[in-house]
Order: sequence, then structure tokens, then C-alpha cells
Amino acid sequence: MKRILVTGGAGFIGSHLCKKLLEEGNYVICLDNFFTGSMDNIADLLSNKNFELITHDIINEYYIDVEQVYNLACPASPPHYQYNAIKTIKTSILGVTNMLGLAKRCKARILQASTSEVYGDPKVHPQTEDYWGNVNPIGVRSCYDEGKRCAETLMMDYHRQNNVDIRIVRIFNTYGPHMAENDGRVVSNFIIQALKNEDITIYGDGSQTRSFCYVSDLVEAMVRMMNSSNNFIGPVNLGNPSERTILDFAKLIIKLTNSNSKIIYKPLPSDDPVQRKPDITLAKKELNWEPLVDIENGLLSTIKYFENRLSLKSVEKV
Ligand code: NAD
Ligand code: UDP
Repeated sequence: MKRILVTGGAGFIGSHLCKKLLEEGNYVICLDNFFTGSMDNIADLLSNKNFELITHDIINEYYIDVEQVYNLACPASPPHYQYNAIKTIKTSILGVTNMLGLAKRCKARILQASTSEVYGDPKVHPQTEDYWGNVNPIGVRSCYDEGKRCAETLMMDYHRQNNVDIRIVRIFNTYGPHMAENDGRVVSNFIIQALKNEDITIYGDGSQTRSFCYVSDLVEAMVRMMNSSNNFIGPVNLGNPSERTILDFAKLIIKLTNSNSKIIYKPLPSDDPVQRKPDITLAKKELNWEPLVDIENGLLSTIKYFENRLSLKSVEKV
């Protein structure tokens, strides 16, 4: 049994990760400030004697003894990370520094949840880890993109200078149950709009592409990366290379939900990447990993989750 700290553990990905780590017999400390996380996401873990919840903001120092740290604390959806941009960049810089200090003090291995956003609006397609990216340093997405880039720098410098045991994963668009209803990302927006038969809002002309990975596949890869016995520290891309346009994605959601929704077009937010697809050759080689859940099955279980959430809400209203 390992003592493992998961920051951002009450969020979408973090809650699935906490559950998996508990199932594998570990003692899990979930630390979260509940900015975008929720108690509902971890409700079924609270009664587990090997689960501990700490309400804390990683911008402030925290002292605990653990063997592993998964650092996921950071809002991930554009509306949420732009809501308080200065706070977002502090979370990636001060917060990551605090978690690296913690890992250094107790000689823990630390895994940083980095992102495909480090590639910005990529000029190399599909994206490989050796590509340095095309990021606007002064735009509305910069608080997140540059924060995450600096977090990778901090990870590498603590590793080179202080021998901290690190792992860096670059996560591409991931979806599944426990995404917040007000998250604002495309998967939850389209599913909720379709279930309510409301207009589906495509930003731009819908020709931009994304590649969507189901959360169980991602979490499996994160745990493999954390526990890899070789000296492979990353960065490694984790995502599903199956790429599609946002317009095709909207049509797929309408089909899977049997919805009457119509597609409408809204302005494209600035610096919205035109295309994104991970090259996962490195993850296949080093982690013997590739995604297993196809988009239709992953979406059906996500749709079911949101159907339950919406029907619970309507019962609450009665
Ligand atoms: P999420 O918003 O659901 O989860 C983030 C969690 O971190 C929330 O529980 C939130 O309350 C918590 N948090 C935020 N700031 C904090 C702070 N200062 N101190 C303590 N807790 C804080 O997002 P997610 O999709 O689960 O993303 C988790 C991590 O994975 C993030 O670091 C994100 O950047 C990264 N990531 C996610 C995706 C994706 O597609 N979901 C893609 C790339 C990277
Ligand atoms: N998008 C959209 N409609 C929405 C939400 C998002 O067309 O209601 C688009 C968005 O402009 C982007 C893509 O869908 O091109 C993915 O957006 P998301 O916010 O999920 O993640 P990103 O990959 O941009 O961080």
C-alpha cells in the first residue's frame, strides 16, 4: 500500500484517478480547493477508510508525507481557467513549486498533469513530444498554456538541480462522466444541449479538429507512467489519436442522443487551435499503452451520466 497525494482529486479526471488508486489498494489523500471540483464526484469514496479529503489551495504550502504525488490541481476548461486568469497562472507556478518542494522534502515521485496546450496552435501535425509548440504568450489562453509550459520547466529544473523524481504527461482532450455540467468544454456542452433539445453551439465554422480520449484510458496511462520502472520521465503525449472536426462531432452527438437539436454557429474564441491530434508512438513504446474505448461507447456512457444528472435536477425542482 502506497500513500498517494492527488491534487485536484475532486475534479473530473482526479476523481477517476482516486477511485482507481483505491481499487489498487493504496491510501489516497485527495487535496482540492473545490473551484471546479465537486463533492458529488468523490461521494462514493468518502466512506473508504483508505481515503482522506483535504480542502486546501496548492497556491499555499502544504506539508504531508507521501510516496507519490499526482498534481492535477488546475482548472482545465477555457471558461473556468479564464475566469480568474491570474489565479490560474499562480496555480501552475506557485502551486507546482509547492508540490515540487513537497516531493523534494519527502523524496516522493511527482507526476505533473501537463497538456496538449503546450503545443498551442500547432504547426506540426500530429503533435510529437519533440515539437516546441506555437503559443501566444499574451492571449486569453496564455494564463493556462504558458502556466503549464512553465510548470514543465519547473519540473525539469527540480529534476536536474535537486534530483526530484518526476514524470510529465501531456494530456489531450479527455471526456467522460464527472465532467461538470457548467464546464463549458465541447463534450459536456454538446451533450447537455442535445439532451435538452437546445441549439448546439459550434464556435467558428466547425472545421477545427480535436481527438477525444475516454477517461478510463487516460487514467490507466497516468498510473502506468507514474509506476514505470525505467528512467522514462517524459514528457509523453496521452490521448486518443482518432481525430474529427467539431462539426462531425456535433452530428455524432445528435445521432447518439436521438436529439432534435439544430446546429448554430457562434464566433470562434481567439487563439482556438485549428487542429489537434496526439502522436502516441512514445506512449506505446514506453508504457505499452494505447486507448481501448472507441468514441461511440465512451460517448454513450457519458450521455448516460448526464441524463442521470439532468433527471436528478428535475426531480429536485419538483
Ligand atoms: P477539473 O477542472 O475537473 O479538475 C481540476 C481540479 O483541480 C478541480 O477539482 C479543482 O477544484 C481543483 N483545483 C483547481 N485549482 C486548484 C488549486 N489552486 N488548489 C487546489 N485544487 C485546485 O479539470 P480536469 O479536466 O479534471 O483536469 C485535471 C488536470 O488535467 C488539470 O491539471 C488539467 O490542466 C489537466 N488536463 C486535462 C485535460 C482534459 O481534457 N480534461 C486536458 C489536458 C490537461
Ligand atoms: N467548442 C464549440 N462549442 C462549444 C464548446 C467548444 O464549438 O460549445 C469548440 C472550441 O471552440 C474548440 C473545440 O470545440 O475548437 C474544443 O473546445 P474545448 O473547450 O472542449 O477544449 P480545447 O481543446 O479548445 O481546450
